[in-house]
Amino acid sequence: MKKVYFITGSQDLYGEETLKQVALDSKEMVDFLDEKINKVQVVWQPTVRSSEEAEDVLIKASADKDCVAVITWMHTFSPAKMWIKGLQALTKPMLHLHTQYNRRLPYDSIDMDFMNLNQAAHGDREFGFICTRLGIKREVVAGYYKNESVVKRINRFVDVAVAMNYSHNLRVAMFGNNMRDVAVTDGDRVESEIRFGWNVNYYGIGDLVDIINDVTENEVKVKLDELLEKYELNTDDMASVNEQVKYIVALDKFIAKNRIGAYTDTFEDLHGMKQLPGLATQEVMSRGIGFGPEGDYKTSALMAVLCNMAEGREGATAFLEDYTYDLPEGEEIELASHMLEVSPVFAASKPKIEVHPLGIGGKEAPARLVFDGIEGKGIAVSMVDMGDHFRLICADIELVKQPEPMPKLPVARVMWKILPDFATGAEKWIYAGGAHHAVVSTALTPEDIALFAKLTDTEVVFIG
Ligand code: MN
Repeated sequence: MKKVYFITGSQDLYGEETLKQVALDSKEMVDFLDEKINKVQVVWQPTVRSSEEAEDVLIKASADKDCVAVITWMHTFSPAKMWIKGLQALTKPMLHLHTQYNRRLPYDSIDMDFMNLNQAAHGDREFGFICTRLGIKREVVAGYYKNESVVKRINRFVDVAVAMNYSHNLRVAMFGNNMRDVAVTDGDRVESEIRFGWNVNYYGIGDLVDIINDVTENEVKVKLDELLEKYELNTDDMASVNEQVKYIVALDKFIAKNRIGAYTDTFEDLHGMKQLPGLATQEVMSRGIGFGPEGDYKTSALMAVLCNMAEGREGATAFLEDYTYDLPEGEEIELASHMLEVSPVFAASKPKIEVHPLGIGGKEAPARLVFDGIEGKGIAVSMVDMGDHFRLICADIELVKQPEPMPKLPVARVMWKILPDFATGAEKWIYAGGAHHAVVSTALTPEDIALFAKLTDTEVVFIG
């Protein structure tokens, strides 16, 4: 399990008794938080009393691969020049918890000893100043540490910090390159690795084809049985279905061998494959492996990171593409889909495996999952490369039930209302340069994206 270091600040001025109490109090707080924080172990660290100790613990946090973030809190006053060198060495995200050990003031007994011991109101301001002066990107959470709202915000921070740690180690495979002439799917892969940690590498589709060709009949049978428990078979064309099942087995092997968390493909580069991966990519995507079509490595990587962030929450998260609209005035809705690759996490009911021809790409008719989409509040998040920086665009959307059946549409689809209204939302998205590919989530909120943007120092535009 990943860890978060809980670091309490003080100083030597107050004597042993006070420092002993600081340690006892902070341990009790860590025990409480460790119970309440879901994805990590909250690990108590000895009280920081000097510049050397601050530097030591923040270097230790930075060097510990299992430590995804630090929580800092000043129980007493802690002169902040002593934090400078440590903060300069810190490479992990920080939450500055502005709280107190005691919820209430002991009006009857409060004296100067109490005041010396419990002065976060004072110490956290001094610490906050130096963080701001140093330009440290951090989350500040103020409130009594047992408050539900405070615990909730710490959990959100941890979700984002764990996702940032995941992002830092994410390996992305591009089968082929971007679809020819498309602008928005391209990007600076070196900058992606510097800023987000994404190690994006090209693989020849032949590397995958070799694995596909070695998939055995038995492997196909086992995987197909597994799929038929989740999906309804709505075709007689088992040759086409089995071809896609082979791709799943091969993709799983490739992903495991190369420690891949996200991939892209492109229908322009499928040499040696009979079909564009449809059912295969849908199935793999449903497990939180990132996917971006047409070489869209940014969407693919972003999807993997946001799926990681959403882990443990209710709701669905995956790639979608803006496709077409229904435009009754005032009731406009969008239909999002793709040629094939819509994740079954969005399915309102049991997806059907079907086989239909594909209009472009010149390949055999691929098997795919077809379904109608879920309803609920969500966000659409796009990442674009502005040339000298990345920009995130996060729009509020409301997923809706499709008003009528679409018996002839051979792909899965999701429909939503653009918020606050069609013209405002769509115009702002277009002004912001938002892509036609996005990661859609009913599990994450704009607050999650804001925090991710802040902690990764990425520009972000909100629409809603
Ligand atoms: Mn596309």
